[in-house]
Amino acid sequence: MPRVAHALVALSLLLAGCAPPAKDAERPLRITTTVSMLTDLVRTIGGERVIVHGLMGAGVDPHLYKPTIGDVAKLDDADLILYIGLHLEGRMAELFHKMARAGRPVIGVAEALNPERLIRTSEQSYDPHVWFDPLLWGEVASAVADALSAADPERRAFYQRNAAIYQAQLGALDAYIRARIAEIPVERRVLITAHDAFGYFGARYGLEVIGLQGINTATEAGARDVQALAELIARRQIRSIFVETSVSPNTIRAVQAAAQARGWPVAIGGALFSDALGDEGSPEGTYFGMMQHNVETIVEGLK
Ligand code: ZN
Repeated sequence: MPRVAHALVALSLLLAGCAPPAKDAERPLRITTTVSMLTDLVRTIGGERVIVHGLMGAGVDPHLYKPTIGDVAKLDDADLILYIGLHLEGRMAELFHKMARAGRPVIGVAEALNPERLIRTSEQSYDPHVWFDPLLWGEVASAVADALSAADPERRAFYQRNAAIYQAQLGALDAYIRARIAEIPVERRVLITAHDAFGYFGARYGLEVIGLQGINTATEAGARDVQALAELIARRQIRSIFVETSVSPNTIRAVQAAAQARGWPVAIGGALFSDALGDEGSPEGTYFGMMQHNVETIVEGLK
């Protein structure tokens, strides 16, 4: 196990040991979240003081996700609803806005970030995939700790301390990623995926990122996009491109076939977790395990 992984395990144990003694019959906060990165974050900051229902599990694409009847019940039941926002949960935004107008505690955690820290994608919109910059994700952790503290002011110190420990883990992760990416020769630092989820990752670690489908998977790639990307891959002799666990692999396979037709044998470097963690209970079912998997897959595919 790499040294950073040991450090992360040690920090996790420290975090687990931080929970205050359970107070008699006090009911934990019931929180409903959307994507699994956020579910994992809220469970980490809230510890035993929260019961978190995540609506979107492994392999689920938040851009296309429509709430079910069961989801509406979980939302009605919640003391607090946390989502990413910035149009990530495209088909749920309307419902969240309606609930907020009705006075329900609903917070889009990425919308609480300083816009200057965000990647602008048009005059009116920002890239919502903020978890791929660990330091920005640390700011989301602060926003979550603030939201939990507002809902449960007696435990403010507990939530804030957990957020601080989580941010220390993110700092270690950031150093680990920087060291691993440095193993890829500079001219090969090009990350090609099914959709544009890795903008923050590329900006932080110096990779050029190209997503076939843009920021939102609702816009489908056309045959011309596939050919243009294949041409770029062949011209620049890119070794590997990547599928994503929450997006159909068909478009990336089409790009691979089109590059091969041009005489360049590009490989599929593996599957990255972009908009959902892995299965609960697997190493990739946590934020840190997901990031480590992605970094190892990217480095092996490109170096
Ligand atoms: Zn996405």
